Amino acid sequence: MKKFACAVNCMDGRVQEPVIAFMKRKTGADYIDMVTEPGPVRILDLQEPAPLLESVKNRLDISVRKHGASFIGIFGHHDCAGNPLPREAQEPQVRESVRRVAGWFPEAEVRGYWIDHHWEVYPVEEF
Ligand SMILES: [Zn+2]
Repeated sequence: MKKFACAVNCMDGRVQEPVIAFMKRKTGADYIDMVTEPGPVRILDLQEPAPLLESVKNRLDISVRKHGASFIGIFGHHDCAGNPLPREAQEPQVRESVRRVAGWFPEAEVRGYWIDHHWEVYPVEEF
């Protein structure tokens, strides 16, 4: 059976292929569901705008509970127009996003990542 994983990622075209390639390598999934917004870690951290937060949650629900995705990656990135903050300010948002999404979907493994100016993916350590 084909396997799904899910990415919560920015809508920025520069980070789509790096995230899909990373997620496939990391999880062995055949398909990566993409939940995209401009700067989604900002939305998950602030819990606003509420309709967007709800939309992100609904799409994650389809990925996890209909497609059976068991791994969710959450991504912040360099030069984000939707969340124009430096890495050191985005990493706490990524951590808060991981906590929130893990609370919604306890059956899934949820991990956070940073994408740098070379479009390389790095884990955001939890603490
Ligand atoms: Zn962005």
